[in-house]
Amino acid sequence: MIMHKSFQKPLKIIKTLQEHGFEAYFVGGSVRDLLLNRSIGDIDIATNALPKEIIKIFNRTIDVGAKHGTIIVHHENEAYEVTTFRLESQYVDFRRPDEVTFINSLQEDLKRRDFTMNAIAMSSDEKIIDPYRGQDALKNKLIETVGNPKDRFGEDALRMMRAIRFVSQLSFSLEEQTRLAISQYSHLLKEISIERITVEFEKTLLGNNPKSAFELMIDTKIFHYLPGLEDKENELKQITKYNLHHLRNREEWWLLLLIVLKIDDVKDFLKRWKLPNKVIKTIEKASGIFLLVKNQGWNKKILFQAGIENAIAVERIWAVLHNEEPTKKVANIEIAYQELPIKTRNEIPINGNDLIEFFQKKPGPWVADILQRIENHIINNEIDLDRDAIREWLQSCNLK
Ligand code: ATP
Ligand code: MG
Repeated sequence: MIMHKSFQKPLKIIKTLQEHGFEAYFVGGSVRDLLLNRSIGDIDIATNALPKEIIKIFNRTIDVGAKHGTIIVHHENEAYEVTTFRLESQYVDFRRPDEVTFINSLQEDLKRRDFTMNAIAMSSDEKIIDPYRGQDALKNKLIETVGNPKDRFGEDALRMMRAIRFVSQLSFSLEEQTRLAISQYSHLLKEISIERITVEFEKTLLGNNPKSAFELMIDTKIFHYLPGLEDKENELKQITKYNLHHLRNREEWWLLLLIVLKIDDVKDFLKRWKLPNKVIKTIEKASGIFLLVKNQGWNKKILFQAGIENAIAVERIWAVLHNEEPTKKVANIEIAYQELPIKTRNEIPINGNDLIEFFQKKPGPWVADILQRIENHIINNEIDLDRDAIREWLQSCNLK
């Protein structure tokens, strides 16, 4: 059998390691996704070669975490994470919690991994190594920890968020003991950095089955430890009732959350999730547009101000909130946007300097004011998009 296309390039890395006398295997999400027939994301390799040996063997490496055993190896324009077999970091040595112990056993390396479906390895000749019966879990569509779930969530509480994230991405269920352990240990999430929680939460939102994930967040009470959701049980229940599969990207999701959770201080809420500033700005703007449209409906000025992405987001969310099919609404707003005479201020064929020359006046706030008036008139088709037409209009314009 010929190896799946995604694994052919990195296979060379495994072969090279073997030629140097080391063991190496594909591990983690890529093997899981191969067995599930899903599209393959990043490919991780586990080996008994030490980081310094990996660096010596390959020409192009980046040391992203040699201390933890991970080296990125560049090969044929792709990057692969090559990680030395190791034990679970936290409980290995309490005096040096930041260091890990490297080991020589694949089986032990697989044991420190979070879920049985993520603890499957594949060799260079496509043999599956599955000591924790991950394939049974895949067959039964179950997410279960490797070993006792309470111990495993106690070691690293982020795994609870990862479990819920996989429920959404794979439409799997939580194995019963795993689910009970999350209910019991949800408070441990307090120890985890928000950035890491946000990564998993956003993957949850964008998965195929966010409805089940939200039901679990409610059922296990894990929402009590998520920023701004602590006291929003009823609102979260409401979210599970919408047709969430219409939502396309993180911005639309956050906008929906802001509205359904009735968040007053938008910026504060998004900052608590430690989202990048650029993303916060985009969502804040979209949320402002949503309010404007809610209060006064669309007009050309709001549409111009919104930009096409926000306009689509607002329409889609409006539809979702009203249990409507968004396609038509989105298509209509796209047409309305196309019909705007200009999409940005740069398209106005006159600028501030032209105005100063025209009126023979000193620069001042009046310039921006006139430009804004010109823009409004153009958007509303009240002046043609033409220098002469604008000059003519300026003649008739009374300057205070
Ligand atoms: P994705 O498809 O999103 O990449 P993944 O399962 O590959 O999913 P990664 O975050 O890329 O997830 O992690 C790679 C592998 O490392 C996992 O499959 C799992 O074996 C292991 N792993 C990741 N995070 C943890 C964790 N917190 N605890 C234990 N093992 C983990
Ligand atoms: Mg991965």
